[in-house]
Amino acid sequence: MDRRQFLTAGAAAASLLAASDLALNPLDATPAFAWPKGCIDVLPKSSTKRMAWTLDDGFSQSALTSYVKLLEDHSDLRMTMFVLPRSGAWKHLAKPISALAATGRLQLANHTMTHANLLRLDAAGIKRELQHCGHYIEDNFNVSAGTYFRPPFGYIDERVIKIAHDIGYTSPVLWFGSTGSDSNTTAAKVWGLCQKWMLDGRIVIDHANSNRTVQNFDRIRTLLKSRGLHTVTIKDAFGHN
Ligand SMILES: [Zn+2]
Repeated sequence: MDRRQFLTAGAAAASLLAASDLALNPLDATPAFAWPKGCIDVLPKSSTKRMAWTLDDGFSQSALTSYVKLLEDHSDLRMTMFVLPRSGAWKHLAKPISALAATGRLQLANHTMTHANLLRLDAAGIKRELQHCGHYIEDNFNVSAGTYFRPPFGYIDERVIKIAHDIGYTSPVLWFGSTGSDSNTTAAKVWGLCQKWMLDGRIVIDHANSNRTVQNFDRIRTLLKSRGLHTVTIKDAFGHN
């Protein structure tokens, strides 16, 4: 998909938003995309086979609890979570999430305060969304909010990139592969997408909005082992906070 098609698809998806469930993210369901220049969507080349498992939203407290437990139980796993303060699950799980974040196996990054479509906000609005989320991360989890952020719905353009950059959010993180768990699907379909997209060098987007991925945890761990894939955080791969 070229840049012009990207803009058209983005605009079409944006027009659907008002009527759609917040948890149903039109672009998030699109697993691979031509993002604007300056976006991160794959990992740098490495001699180690590795994949970044990234988790957004947290609308399901039960699902988010399961991801936390997964990380607690398996010290070989590393993950990046894009925190959305709008969901109360983050605060509820602040203690175990802080403990994991302190080890570096869990990276916390910015997914804005309210899951706003940044394309529709003025500069002050974009800054407010990112800065409030950043302060929330630092206040609740006792770690730096860093420089990475994921724009809700994957909606981003050059203007948003520049405004975020001006306040220190220099690294927009998109994805190349999705578990599809945000959309109205089944655990079996999520498993099919995990097999399709969990590959060397990929940044895979996942959502703690239902238990569909959770139901596949054992199979995903087996899949990663059979493919010789190590999980890394975004910070592990790019080497800066
Ligand atoms: Zn999201």
